Amino acid sequence: MADFKYAFFEGKITNLIDAKVSIMTNAIQYGTGVFGGIRGYYNKADNSISVFRLNDHYKRFLSSVAILGCRFPYSVEELVEIHKDLLIKNAPNCNSYFRPFAYVGNTKLGPNLADVELSFALYMIPLEEYLPVDKGLNLMVSSWRRVSDNSIPSRGKFSGTYMNSALARKEANDNGFDEAILLSENGNVSEGSAENIFIIRDGVLVTPPITDDVLEGITRRTVIQIATDIGIKVVERSIDRSELYVSDEVFLTGTGCQVAWVNSIDRRIIGNGKIGELSSRLQKEYFATVHGQVDKYSSWCTKVSV
Ligand code: PMP
Repeated sequence: MADFKYAFFEGKITNLIDAKVSIMTNAIQYGTGVFGGIRGYYNKADNSISVFRLNDHYKRFLSSVAILGCRFPYSVEELVEIHKDLLIKNAPNCNSYFRPFAYVGNTKLGPNLADVELSFALYMIPLEEYLPVDKGLNLMVSSWRRVSDNSIPSRGKFSGTYMNSALARKEANDNGFDEAILLSENGNVSEGSAENIFIIRDGVLVTPPITDDVLEGITRRTVIQIATDIGIKVVERSIDRSELYVSDEVFLTGTGCQVAWVNSIDRRIIGNGKIGELSSRLQKEYFATVHGQVDKYSSWCTKVSV
């Protein structure tokens, strides 16, 4: 599918092909940027897009900006308005993915965040699956360690961090796996290259705490809320690599992958090699939620007529 025609760039909506920066741009050279990833689900019946947790995504975006400590010209409310304007302008008739980007746009030599005002851009693309959600993923534990919070803050979404993700993902793909799981520097299970991880043991849903160098995932929070509301016990605690192998069920969460179940890790089959009961239940509830079909979570969905 073709890219959408318009982007927001340098303070206004413009043609995507005109939204270009110099090769000297600091963010390109040093990864000095913050980004987000947001999904909008198309509803043919009333020609609308339901954007999932729009405000929460921009809150996390501004938290990452706050960690950089740079000036930034927009509030959450203003970002939400820009987002809706661009969505209406592109008028998609398919599921869409939005990529806000705050970046050091100057061309000065040297990585430097001091006395900088970040630039802002937003583009969108058509997107269905990022990773398969039906077939069961085959994962490997990466030999690369997840970047630690005291190196590049792992709770936020910084461009430079994704060199770490890219190395892990390459290693996994080169070895025939769908995705990598990264351990933290001190050896605890952290997360996937762009996904949070959950395991189920004896009916309890377990996920690593944010302090194990985990990105503050919006889907992670969503799944924790949904699970709690349907009476599943949820525990945030550290997980060893070997505990992955003996889990009853494992799944990944993320805006891109949504809720994707795991078939094997390091060639050990998880459970009976089929989607587990709780993973299946949470996956169904998640899809109903993001499509705006669950009344109690309707405040998470921003419906925009296109
Ligand atoms: N971890 C990493 C490293 C990610 O890039 C992402 C995707 N943003 C996630 C987890 C999942 O976060 P979210 O649910 O907010 O998309």
